[in-house]
Amino acid sequence: ESQLNPNYSFDNFLEGDSNRLARSAGLAVAAKPGGTSFNPLLIFGGVGLGKTHLAHAIGVDIKDKYPEKTVLYISAEKFTQQYIDSVKKNNRNDFIHFYQIIDVLIIDDVQFLSGKTGTQDVFFHIFNHLHQNGKQVILTSDKAPVDMQDIEQRLLSRFKWGLSAELQNPDFETRVSILKNKLYRDGVEMPEDIIEYVAKNIKTNVRELEGAIISLIAQSSFNKKEITIDLARLIVEKFVKNTKREVSIDYIQKVVSDYFQMDIDTLQSKTRKRHIVQARQLAMFFAKKFTKASLASIGSQIGKRDHATVLHACKTVDNLSSTDKQFRKYVEDISKKLTV
Ligand code: ADP
Ligand code: MG
Repeated sequence: ESQLNPNYSFDNFLEGDSNRLARSAGLAVAAKPGGTSFNPLLIFGGVGLGKTHLAHAIGVDIKDKYPEKTVLYISAEKFTQQYIDSVKKNNRNDFIHFYQIIDVLIIDDVQFLSGKTGTQDVFFHIFNHLHQNGKQVILTSDKAPVDMQDIEQRLLSRFKWGLSAELQNPDFETRVSILKNKLYRDGVEMPEDIIEYVAKNIKTNVRELEGAIISLIAQSSFNKKEITIDLARLIVEKFVKNTKREVSIDYIQKVVSDYFQMDIDTLQSKTRKRHIVQARQLAMFFAKKFTKASLASIGSQIGKRDHATVLHACKTVDNLSSTDKQFRKYVEDISKKLTV
């Protein structure tokens, strides 16, 4: 109902200089939702630094302290989709009303609203209503309000009304405590020097930090090998290399869906509409071309399709690019965007 993930709690959100302000502001908001000057509370920072985690933690804590309050977590992407659906189904007013009666509204990744004027407009009205009624709004974004693009001025100014708190790259000590906390929760023991080695080498993204530890544990248990510093070195190297290349299947889906001005949910959907099918086939084709993922893995990440569908997509894209001029242009344009 509230879409909150109870695993993302304050207890599990390790404190450090990099997140102290945002974390304390979150705690203050959770203690008195709507009753502080941090309204909206906007948490911003790069990928994998804990924005989603912290946003959930605030919601979970509020729900704990004030069970009677309605708390809703939603991604800006889903919010946009719901809004578009409501317009199609002629119940835009129901949509607005639904959001206006919420006590605590948490919208994740508001940068997604950029360029989406209709959704911005409706959110502006919902925001004003909530704010005037002393309800709490919590937002996250990958950029500070001053750096956001294609967001209407009046909405940006609302974003700045409360507090904007940045999540920065965690320092070494914080990275070590995040890893230790994770290992402790998973009941895994790991030598100190290995934890430190991983924390020293993966610096800019907590998700990757955790990912490296997870691979390390998996590698050692699959191969029945001890976790050694050599194994750690191998895995860390892979992580660092992979992130330099930066073309992930997620990124490909984002580029392709942006190019066709649809969202990722649409791209992955079961529809047979031609332009959506083509977008999906292009995403599969580029995933095959630019990543090392298997056909099966590409299929499962792009709308839960099987490997035969991906193979078919790759062939179709090959064929169409040699017979259809317009289609060839799509391939060239997207290719450029992915390789800059
Ligand atoms: P973002 O939304 O900023 O991309 P997430 O909230 O998804 O990042 O965080 C990525 C991962 O890192 C999650 O598994 C999250 O639990 C973890 N994480 C981030 N910051 C911390 C922290 N301070 N303490 C513990 N785990 C963290
Ligand atoms: Mg997030």
